[in-house]
Amino acid sequence: MFTRILIANRGEIALRIIRTCKRLGIETAVVYSQADKDAVYLKLADRAICIGPPPAKQSYLAMNNIVAAAEIADVDAIHPGYGFLSEDDHFAEVCRSCKIAFIGPRTEAIAKLGDKIAAKNLARSAGVPTVPGSDGAVENEDLALELAEGFGYPVLLKAAAGGGGRGMRVSHNPISLRSNFQQARAEAEAAFGDGTLYLEKFIESMRHIEVQIIADEHGNLLQLGERDCTVQRRNQKLIEESPSSAIDKRTRYDIQIAAIKIMKAAKYTNAGTVEFIYDADAGKFYFMEVNTRLQVEHPVTECVTGLDLVEEQIRVASGEKLRWWQKEINTRLASGGHAIECRINAEDPRRNFAPTPGKIGLYCAPAGPLIRMDTHIYSGYQVPPYYDSMLGKLIVAGADRIEAIRRMRHSLDELVLDGIPTTKPLLREIFGHAKFVAGNYDTNFLATEMGLS
Ligand code: ADP
Ligand code: ADP
Ligand code: MG
Repeated sequence: MFTRILIANRGEIALRIIRTCKRLGIETAVVYSQADKDAVYLKLADRAICIGPPPAKQSYLAMNNIVAAAEIADVDAIHPGYGFLSEDDHFAEVCRSCKIAFIGPRTEAIAKLGDKIAAKNLARSAGVPTVPGSDGAVENEDLALELAEGFGYPVLLKAAAGGGGRGMRVSHNPISLRSNFQQARAEAEAAFGDGTLYLEKFIESMRHIEVQIIADEHGNLLQLGERDCTVQRRNQKLIEESPSSAIDKRTRYDIQIAAIKIMKAAKYTNAGTVEFIYDADAGKFYFMEVNTRLQVEHPVTECVTGLDLVEEQIRVASGEKLRWWQKEINTRLASGGHAIECRINAEDPRRNFAPTPGKIGLYCAPAGPLIRMDTHIYSGYQVPPYYDSMLGKLIVAGADRIEAIRRMRHSLDELVLDGIPTTKPLLREIFGHAKFVAGNYDTNFLATEMGLS
């Protein structure tokens, strides 16, 4: 087992990882940018090392600074959290070549699955259905138009290197596809340094369903059930829950098997998530992508399985074997009840979800049985403008979905968080919305039911 771990991240996930390390008796070193010098979790870590000025490129994305910090702190492993360098195969390789364990999958698996086109091909060769679309990269507009003619509009242009809901454009006809092509390419180039695009049929009404996987380095792999992340804004998740209310037993089983097939084909290790599109009208599911890291919404899976996913990540990265059989996990899932998470973001939903950095006034978290608040904020905390707008996550559980929703409403009512606009009022509204409560919605929910996009 590791003696000391460096946390190469910030915010709620940095605090979340420190907590597990403490419980396991592992020392922690955490990096921070000048903008995060007042973060409370810096006090909880055994060591905090400044890695540069506020812009992420000069701090949380500055590989050399992070590796230097790891050397100074003399750690034996690095946990990358999510976002930033977590899905950067080069970073994983640099860590490993410095004899520092990277708490994540093998470098080759990150590289292969991080390329969404390569991942789709892998899924296909593993016998898992994929969304109708181009076989590989779409080199030019003419090819895009020809393909779109073949499987029909609307179509979606996606960046092979995309992530965070960015680099996607819907086209309803050839004219918009032509103009979207150049824009999407330029956007992908600017955002990901790679303008490679591919084309998919745009599924107009879908549920986002994903399967959590954990695998060790000895060939053992477990699926930890699914999460439904259908409530999204701008293709980014806002609410996540487990299990999904949209699928029956048979579909659940089929999706789980599909996820296992893909990850086995990739010889996957550590924690990862296989994302699917579920077309409820057609009763069909399609592989979408793999996220080769811990996900923001991992706590809902922790609630229904009783596992600590960060602990499992650390254990398998240090070479330990998984300690459960799939059967035991299935038993836990069957009796695990229902868990829901919502993201409390410093954003103004009425202003197109524009970030609202600033000073938080009073903050007081809800508490009680089956209520968990994962956040690094506190009263008077200054939200920096440089990073993701997520302030934290409220996670609740219940015997069933209705009980969990009810608990979520009360918890949101109890949550005191003022000073800046946040997603809290919108979330409260959603949890009271008849269609959400009935489980009758798709990824257009915020647009069609709340007038938000
Ligand atoms: P999930 O919720 O499935 O874990 P998200 O897509 O919300 O994944 O991404 C997790 C975090 O990483 C978010 O903070 C998001 O802004 C960030 N992120 C993910 N991919 C990218 C990317 N390619 N570029 C910038 N930020 C990203
Ligand atoms: P990212 O890497 O940014 O997470 P994904 O490929 O996972 O990108 O897609 C993010 C979201 O975009 C999905 O959850 C879904 O809402 C939407 N989306 C992606 N592909 C399609 C599609 N073919 N049809 C309709 N919606 C899609
Ligand atoms: Mg995704």
